[in-house]
Amino acid sequence: MFSRILIANRGEIALRIIRACRELGIETVVICSKADENALYLKQADITVCVGPPESEGSYLNIPSIISAAEITDIEAIHPGYGFLSEVAHFAEVCESSNIVFIGPRADVLKKLGNKTEARKIAIANKIPVVPGSESVIKSQQQALDVAHKIGYPVIIKASSGGGGRGMRVAHNDISLVNLLSVAQREAEAAFKDASVYIEKYIENTRHVEVQILGDNYGNIVHLGERDCTLQRRHQKLVEESPSPAITPRLREEICKAAIKIARAVNYTNAGTVEFLVDNNTGNFYFIEVNTRLQVEHPVTEMVTGIDLVKQQIRVACGERLNLKQKKVRNQGVSIECRINAEDPQNGFRPQPGKVTIYNPPGGQGVRVDSHVHTGYEIPPFYDSLISKLIVYQKTREEAIACMKRALGEYTIGGIKTTIPLQLELITHSQFASGNINTNFVENYLSRSKD
Ligand code: ADP
Repeated sequence: MFSRILIANRGEIALRIIRACRELGIETVVICSKADENALYLKQADITVCVGPPESEGSYLNIPSIISAAEITDIEAIHPGYGFLSEVAHFAEVCESSNIVFIGPRADVLKKLGNKTEARKIAIANKIPVVPGSESVIKSQQQALDVAHKIGYPVIIKASSGGGGRGMRVAHNDISLVNLLSVAQREAEAAFKDASVYIEKYIENTRHVEVQILGDNYGNIVHLGERDCTLQRRHQKLVEESPSPAITPRLREEICKAAIKIARAVNYTNAGTVEFLVDNNTGNFYFIEVNTRLQVEHPVTEMVTGIDLVKQQIRVACGERLNLKQKKVRNQGVSIECRINAEDPQNGFRPQPGKVTIYNPPGGQGVRVDSHVHTGYEIPPFYDSLISKLIVYQKTREEAIACMKRALGEYTIGGIKTTIPLQLELITHSQFASGNINTNFVENYLSRSKD
């Protein structure tokens, strides 16, 4: 086992990884920016290295600085968490050439699956259903129009290097397609330094269902069941749960089999997530992408399987064989996660940096809180607004919803606005309870509550 690893991330996920390392007896080095220098979670690490200014470009994305920190602290491996450098193939290559183990898939896998049009091609070659769409990157307006005429409106324009719901636009006719094509390309260029986009049929009544996979360096790959992330705003997840309340055992089996197939096609190693859309109207499922890293919502899988995903990531990166057999993976009970963001839902979800004057997290049976926040914590304005993940685990979905309602009610965060009140409205909504929702549920709910 490694004796010391570096965590190239911040906030709740840095703390999550520190905790796993402590339990494994591994020392931790955590990097931070100037804006995070005094954050209390850093005290849980053995060593902290400030790698740059508050802006991520100079710190959490600064590869030379992070590698220098790794070299002076003599670490053996780097855990990138999620976001930042977690899916950057070049970073994995630099780690490798510096004799540092990157805790994630190999660089060639990051490259293949990081480009969504390439990932689509791999899925097609392996006979995994994909949403009808363009065969490759869109080169001209005429090509975009031809694809749209072939598959029919509405269509969705998506960034090849996309992530976090950015660079996506839905077009309902020729005029909007031509206009939105350049909008999406500009947005993709700004966000990912890659303007290439592709087109898919826009499925209007759909759920988001994804499968957690885990592979070792010896060709063993297992899946840990699915997560349902249908509750989204602007294509970004708000609530995630496992198991999906809306798929049949047969569909589950087919989707999980498809996930394993794509993982095998690229000799996938470490943790990953294969994402699908399930069309509510037809029951058909379609591959959309693979996220080659730990996901924000990984705890719901941990709760229903009893498997610590971060420890598994570290073990397989260290060269251990996967100690799990597919038949032995048992998914039991129901887990739901609410993402708590420092945002004001009443005011266009405006970010809420500033001082947290009161912080009282919930507790009790079946409640897990993954957060680095505390009373007096100053939320910096430079990063993602996710400040906490509230996860519950119960025997049934009804009990899990009741537990989440109770826990959200207990959660007191003062000084800033958060998404807690909105989460409470969403998870207690009768339609969420029925399980009969699609990815537009939140937007429809918000526009109705404005009237
Ligand atoms: P990102 O990488 O930016 O997260 P994804 O491809 O994973 O993008 O899609 C994010 C979300 O966007 C999906 O969960 C779904 O809500 C929506 N979406 C993506 N493709 C389609 C599609 N073809 N039809 C309908 N919704 C889609």
